[in-house]
Amino acid sequence: MQKEIMKLKKYGKTIGFVPTMGYLHDGHIELLRKARAENDLVVLSIFVNPLQFGPNEDFNSYPRDIENDKKIAKTEKVDYLFFPEATNIISENKTIEINVTERTDVLCGKSRPGHFNGVATILTMLFLIIMPNRVYFGRKDAQQVAIVTSLIDDLHFPIKLVEVETVRETDGLAKSSRNVNLTEEERVKAPYIYDILQGAQKSLSNKQLDIDETRQFLIDNLTASTGGTVDYVEILSYPELKQLKSSLEGQVIIAVAVKFSKVRLIDNIIFTLD
Ligand code: AMP
Repeated sequence: MQKEIMKLKKYGKTIGFVPTMGYLHDGHIELLRKARAENDLVVLSIFVNPLQFGPNEDFNSYPRDIENDKKIAKTEKVDYLFFPEATNIISENKTIEINVTERTDVLCGKSRPGHFNGVATILTMLFLIIMPNRVYFGRKDAQQVAIVTSLIDDLHFPIKLVEVETVRETDGLAKSSRNVNLTEEERVKAPYIYDILQGAQKSLSNKQLDIDETRQFLIDNLTASTGGTVDYVEILSYPELKQLKSSLEGQVIIAVAVKFSKVRLIDNIIFTLD
């Protein structure tokens, strides 16, 4: 792949790169379309990265369907689909890992120790193989966007990160490969996550509730309505992901993670407070 890319680079082609874990849905397709519109070539990678899953997480049950993914890649006019075997991309005796030192004490960094080191390590490998001009990430994984922005800046990758809005089902549920692992009953209740996020945004924006009250509102309503267990609820500055000072101003993220019987779903809402 790297040799192929080097050849293309000689012709001055621009490369848009969409890294994914596959089981493609409309969220991924939105990233592919943006990449298609802005670059000469589009590279899609599909890799369920073992480095970013904890020992008790859903690596084995993560949905996979490479044949359907290939069809979608073709329809979306992807030029290169890169789906390496873990053994080909991760050295058996790996001795190097990227260590993310900021923003890992909150949200998914806190509840999934080592997750972002795994993400940053694999992305570094992929960036060095694909050498893209632009890379596309979804806001559904807002902490990932913030951390990858730092990865690119800190390691001086000559890559522009393009952030894409969260694509949702008509009932508001954020599209996710993991949604297929919801039971029928859970699938009916899961859209409440976004309703409740919107309610929290409203209450915080019009100062009906302060931060602590909004957090409690989220915990109470998510617990009562989704039938799942709240993993975290956080209200932070974005993209810094710092606790908010008493003066409520600037870009804010309300982010939640809810555990269902077989999956844990995340969602967020990002807005400006004045
Ligand atoms: P994944 O395959 O879940 O690792 O996601 C690959 C990329 O697609 C990441 O940049 C995600 O943020 C993005 N993505 C996943 N779901 C959505 C969505 N519903 N809307 C927009 N982007 C998404």
